Amino acid sequence: MASHGFTSSILHSDRRQSIEYGATHQPMHTAAAYRYDDVRDLVAVFQGRPGFSYGRQGTPTTAALESKVSVMEAGVGTVSFSTGMAALAGIFISLLRAGDHLVASQYIFGNTNSLLGTLSALGVEVTLVDATDVAQVEAALRPETRMVFAETIANPGTQIADLAAIGALCQARNLVYVVDNTMTSPWMFRPATVGASLVMNSLSKYMGGHGHALGGSVTDTGLYDWSAYPNIYDAYKGGKPTSWGLTQIKKKGLRDMGGTLSSETAHRIAIGCETLALRMARACDNALALARFLEAHPGVARVHYPGLAQHPQHVRAGELFGHRYGALLGVELAEGIDCFEFLNLLQVVILSTHVGDTRTLALPAAHTIYHEMGAERRAQMGIADSLIRVSVGIEEIDDLIDDFGAALKKMLA
Ligand SMILES: *Cc1c(COP(=O)(O)O)cnc(C)c1O
Repeated sequence: MASHGFTSSILHSDRRQSIEYGATHQPMHTAAAYRYDDVRDLVAVFQGRPGFSYGRQGTPTTAALESKVSVMEAGVGTVSFSTGMAALAGIFISLLRAGDHLVASQYIFGNTNSLLGTLSALGVEVTLVDATDVAQVEAALRPETRMVFAETIANPGTQIADLAAIGALCQARNLVYVVDNTMTSPWMFRPATVGASLVMNSLSKYMGGHGHALGGSVTDTGLYDWSAYPNIYDAYKGGKPTSWGLTQIKKKGLRDMGGTLSSETAHRIAIGCETLALRMARACDNALALARFLEAHPGVARVHYPGLAQHPQHVRAGELFGHRYGALLGVELAEGIDCFEFLNLLQVVILSTHVGDTRTLALPAAHTIYHEMGAERRAQMGIADSLIRVSVGIEEIDDLIDDFGAALKKMLA
């Protein structure tokens, strides 16, 4: 399969596993529990042999999605979760202990920022740095540092971490490198190529892609040697060390914390993943065209989009992401234009949170998703009060440009 293209590999991955009756899709297995004729087999599953016992730790349907995500991320294994946040909590809480130190990018998703606050309250020291510059990450490292966390394209400021240099730094210092790949998806970027140890995806966004299913995943790239990691419990040290980290994340995150994805949802997300390349190519093209239109418009003060030449990490984005720049825009309207009034004029664009839908969505970021973090932290993240986050969908581009254009015209009249 490795020789096949991205989409062919995903489309044909289900039937490479034997499926009952020759079904071309993995069926939905909704049973809570799994039986065995010989009780020794049930015992073996409890003691670590691959297999199913109770649905909280996975079903054949979640396993099929996990193997699809592993193919997409070129990883050695994946664990799925009920949401992206459950996946992140699964990583941090399973692998970090009180007294450990985590270095994280300051340009991160608002709820992840809040989760890191919870982690601090539990005794994990967290340092936030400007991860667009590897020197800042390096300067923050301490003897107790266990992990470095960064996103690919930050939301909504679109800052791009120095992903490759941070990967080299983590490898040199033997640190676990966790990359949230949600905004790029494995179609645009595989964090394994820059040395990531663990890749997290919110499957609710581009992966599932239709705004009708929540999920998350953690993929182990196989690049980190977990035998060197001090926090792995003895019980999870069976088999090859490359699997230890993910085993612990699964045992703690699913079995103990219960952040399990349902089979129904896993099935929907798996179908969505099959068209990721088609949807994202169109959304990226739309985003670039819309960014150029808005940037040139007198009603707009600034557009944050990595595909624009003046974006501070434009060159880095091109190199890392194969000259695709994602489908997320940050738009600051010209002085004096009320962003609430402007948004209310949009007809095609949906006023809603969420990103990575087939439909274009927009919301005023400072007043909604970044409200709780307060003005000081917003300023640190580069989020102006007037900033509008636009998640560009797959509509015909003329309809999007006409919608934004008509609203801006009214505001300027
Ligand atoms: C949405 C998102 C998450 C959280 O994912 P959910 O599935 O909504 O819990 C994490 N990171 C990023 C970058 C996101 O956009």
